[in-house]
Formats: sequence, C-alpha cells, structure tokens
Amino acid sequence: MMKTGVAILGGGLAGLNAARLLHRAGVDVQLYEARDRLGGRVLTVNAAGAPDMDGFDLGPSWFWPEMQPAIGALVAELGLPSFAQHSEGDVVFERMSREPPHRLPGLGQEPRSLRLVGGSAALIRALAAAIPADRLHTGARVTALHAREDGVELSLRHADGREESVRAGQIIAALPPRVLESTVRFSPDVPLETRRLWRETPTWMAPHAKFFALYDCPFWRAAGFSGTAQSMVGPMPEIHDATTASGQAALFGFLGVGADERARIGEAALTKACLAQFARIFGPEAASPRATLWKDWAADPLTATEADPASAGHPVPAAAWVHGPWRDWLTLAGSEVSPNEAGYLAGAVEASERTVATVSRRLRDRSGARA
Ligand SMILES: Cc1cc2nc3c(=O)[nH]c(=O)nc-3n(C[C@H](O)[C@H](O)[C@H](O)COP(=O)(O)OP(=O)(O)OC[C@H]3O[C@@H](n4cnc5c(N)ncnc54)[C@H](O)[C@@H]3O)c2cc1C
Repeated sequence: MMKTGVAILGGGLAGLNAARLLHRAGVDVQLYEARDRLGGRVLTVNAAGAPDMDGFDLGPSWFWPEMQPAIGALVAELGLPSFAQHSEGDVVFERMSREPPHRLPGLGQEPRSLRLVGGSAALIRALAAAIPADRLHTGARVTALHAREDGVELSLRHADGREESVRAGQIIAALPPRVLESTVRFSPDVPLETRRLWRETPTWMAPHAKFFALYDCPFWRAAGFSGTAQSMVGPMPEIHDATTASGQAALFGFLGVGADERARIGEAALTKACLAQFARIFGPEAASPRATLWKDWAADPLTATEADPASAGHPVPAAAWVHGPWRDWLTLAGSEVSPNEAGYLAGAVEASERTVATVSRRLRDRSGARA
C-alpha cells in the first residue's frame, strides 16, 4: 500500500495551492482529483469547448486584488499577467419585454475586476508546475476514509475502474463541504453536527450556468457598447464582454433561469433564447456567432449536489468544520471554509494557506512527540 505524509482530496485552486506549499516545505504529499483535469471550478476552454492555454472562463473570470490581497499576492508570486475587465462604452438595461433596451453611458468600474491573461486556468497551470507530476493524480476519486490507529486509509477509484488504498498521516479535503459529504464515506462516521454543517453549507456558484457567444471581432465595442448589460427580461440577467487578452472576441452571460427549468428547457432552446437576447441588446450581428459555449455547473456532480439549487448563497463561517475523532486527522481547505472570502478564488487561497499552517503544526508536534 502506498504511504504518504499528507493526502489532499481535490485538485482545484485550494488543493493545488496546499500541495505546492507543503511540497515546498519538504512534506511528502499526494493529491487526488476525481476529474480527468485539474482546476475544479476553474475551467478555461477554447472555441471547441476543450480545456486550453488561452480561452474562455466557464467558471471564475475575475479577481479583485485591492479587496482580496490573498489572491493578489499569489498572482504576483506566480508572475501571472492580468488585465482589466473591458468596461469602456455604454451599458444597456433591459427593463421590460415590451420596451426597447435602454442605453446609458457606462460609469466605469471601481475597483476594477481583473482577469488573467490566458484565462483563470493560468493560475492552475502555474501551481501544478510547482509540484512534481508524480504527486498529482487525476481521474482518482476518493470514495472512503477509514481512521486507523496511526493514520487514515483512503479508498480510491481510478478512472479505469482500478481500486487502490493509500495510507496517509493527515488528510486535507480541498473541496466544497457538500461535495465531501456526498462523495466520501467515513468509517467511523463523522458526527451528526459535522455532517449537518457540511450539508448546509452552500457551494458558491454551484447552481449557476454561463453562456458564451464567440465572434470574429468585438463589433459591439466599435458601436460604443461596453458589452455590459443588465436585464429583467432574460434569459440572462447579467452580461459582460468576455474577449480574451489575445483578442478572441466574445460576450457572456449568467443564466437567470433556475437549474431545474434549465434541465427541462434544454441547452438548444436556451442557446436560441440567449442569442436572441444578445441580438436585442447589441444588434443583429450578435445572432450569428462563430461558436457558442455552455456550462451548467448545477449539472456537474463534482461541484453541485442535489441541495445546491434549492439553497444557494455565500457560506457562513463556522468555528470548526470537523468535530469528534476526525478532528485530529482531517482539515477542510476548500474556498467555502474561508472565514473572509468564502466561495471566491481568494477564499481558496486563504483556506489552503490556513490549512497548511494547521497541518504543518500537527506534523511537527507529532514528530516532536516521537523524538
Ligand atoms: C460559474 C462560476 C463563476 C465564478 N466566478 C468567480 C469569480 O469571478 N471570482 C471568484 O473569485 N470566484 C468565482 N467563482 C468561485 C471559484 O470558482 C471558487 O471559489 C474556486 O474555484 C474554488 O476552488 P476550490 O479548490 O476551493 O474548489 P473546487 O474548484 O470546487 O475544487 C474541488 C475539487 O475537488 C474534486 N473532487 C470532488 N469530489 C472529489 C472526490 N471524492 N475525490 C477527489 N476529488 C474530488 C473536484 O473535481 C474539484 O476539482 C465562480 C465559480 C463558478 C462555478
């Protein structure tokens, strides 16, 4: 059986940052990610919808380093170039279906939302590059954690169906508490108050879906539009320019239609309705994109659970995320457990840094006790 000092569940921003910091500190660490790619909610794709080095952010697009120093510091440390969300030009408000959209001068953005050159996945690539490849296991789903006298045994299911057990001294669960609760079995079971807390903690943005339309050029800019629009007509209440730093033109919107209704209406009909809305707001050219992209996070079981569409919002900080005997072995590190920036990219950075400090202290105390 493979043995490691620390096993990390989840290869999103939090898991990768925790792995990088522990590896840098000389700790033996292995990271297990259920999907066949790293990044989790961070997903940058090309026009064909495949993960790519430069493209469109189907998950997070923005960060605000002035308000969220943790993510600003990480981006600076990794030397990643960023650029401001395009906001020059008029904004549009759609109030009612029976009146034309209102066009108003934009007020600019303060503080400005920043995007990473190449897309948010640049962050994931830079973190992964700082960790030896043989420590990062994709297509490796943790199905169970068994507490043993001298550590924890993880049960893994690989994408090819192979089962494996790994023994670890400490476990970091770098995933939304709800996903941990729904995907991993515990023996002995976690106390009821822990299970209830995990289940009641919403996963930020899990109930949402994003729609992108890609064009040969950002024609709306030439017509004096910023690409920003707000709508009470829908289907997208919030629309933005999504043109990449490399100049690939796009608009995107968040869907205002609930997850159940989206599933009922279907992607094809929603795509048609979204393009009709873009054309209403930005002109007929918007009706004929070169490609469209769609990501419904509520339909992705490694992000959203059944509870998410019904109870959404920002997670509430908790005094402790693990109770009872598991407290000594398991620490949560996903964005949702951050006390200050829960749900955001900055939260994933903060939570992973705090967790690494806790786990490092435990490892030190344990080796001190043995000496
Ligand atoms: C549509 C959308 C827009 C967003 N916009 C913004 C934004 O503009 N700015 C911002 O700051 N934040 C935004 N966010 C939030 C941001 O994406 C998250 O805060 C951040 O990515 C969370 O990272 P994480 O590592 O904590 O969790 P995740 O990215 O969810 O990573 C958890 C990982 O665990 C894996 N996993 C799950 N179960 C198992 C298992 N049993 N075994 C092994 N692996 C498992 C998952 O596959 C996943 O890769 C947005 C999110 C979405 C969905």
